Amino acid sequence: MEPILLKIPFDAGTASTGFGDKPWTSYDMLVVRVETDDGIVGWGESWGYGVIPAVKTAIEQVVAAHFIGRDPTIVGNLREIWHKLHLFGRNGAIVYAMAGIEIALWDICGKAVHQPVHTLLGSAQRLQFPAYASLVPYRDPALVGRMTAKALAEGYPTVKLHEIDVPPVRAARESGGEGFELMVDTNCPWMPWQALEMARRMNEYRLYWLEEPVWPPENFPALARMKRESGVPIAAGENVGTAREFETLLSHDAVTYAQPSVTKIGGIAEMRKVCVMAEAHNIPVSPHSPYFGPGLAATLQLVATLPYPVQIERVFIQLEASPFGSMIDVRGGTMRVPDGPGLGIEPDRELLKRYRAL
Ligand SMILES: [Mg+2]
Repeated sequence: MEPILLKIPFDAGTASTGFGDKPWTSYDMLVVRVETDDGIVGWGESWGYGVIPAVKTAIEQVVAAHFIGRDPTIVGNLREIWHKLHLFGRNGAIVYAMAGIEIALWDICGKAVHQPVHTLLGSAQRLQFPAYASLVPYRDPALVGRMTAKALAEGYPTVKLHEIDVPPVRAARESGGEGFELMVDTNCPWMPWQALEMARRMNEYRLYWLEEPVWPPENFPALARMKRESGVPIAAGENVGTAREFETLLSHDAVTYAQPSVTKIGGIAEMRKVCVMAEAHNIPVSPHSPYFGPGLAATLQLVATLPYPVQIERVFIQLEASPFGSMIDVRGGTMRVPDGPGLGIEPDRELLKRYRAL
């Protein structure tokens, strides 16, 4: 069981971009390679970006030991391991580490029986989904306008901005016209009363949803008020740590779209619970998936089994190369669910070697 850091150069249309603590100099991905004693290799992915050093250490020094020597089919019921680890955090590095290993075990189980993961989870309802272009933060309205036009020209039906001010939103709408759906992801910048005001101003440009408008992300009553009073559909959930915490979010009627993230919430089985609970609350899932590796494949395998279509988040950057192949490609505005055994992806060994940093 081995966590592997990949650092891949990319083009985002600007020299400086990033989320969280620092600008990106490469797209960083933490993948987990698990090999069984009879030689089946599974691939998983943990939540990465700026937290990769902590998650890699968590896998190597804390979490992996709980899995070594076990049968990979325990993946359907990890209660015992979750219980042993709960003292060390129910959101954060330990949970992301669990996710990376969990996803790899699903890959192994699928490969062992020569079936795609979506077959193990039930049966696929559809194998093709519309993708939305998830633009990185630009802050410069002119650049936002240009990148919106570029995404639409490439066939995306929907564009999501990561912006926190009105001028970039106006620029996107004016550049793209009325014929496309526009989402705005703000990553939790505002106090609730500021969020209401900003939602109303941004919604002059007709938002499909406003994502994570309030600080802190777990302020579910404030999100619920936004949903009731802002006039804008609300999306959130990527920062929810557990399936159980999602039940609390859903009980508050806090979102129009629930956004579990497979590499953050602990893997496929936990995200599946969220999908079932959301359905019981009549709330559609719209997964958080800023991934280019096993995390994206796991997301696609999961949504294939949902009884309704969803839009797949595709980060709108151009990687120098894709270590996990053509799964990341969007053609005619759609993405396909990989159909091979397990997650349906196999990494290119040469590319793994070329981009491996740790
Ligand atoms: Mg987001």
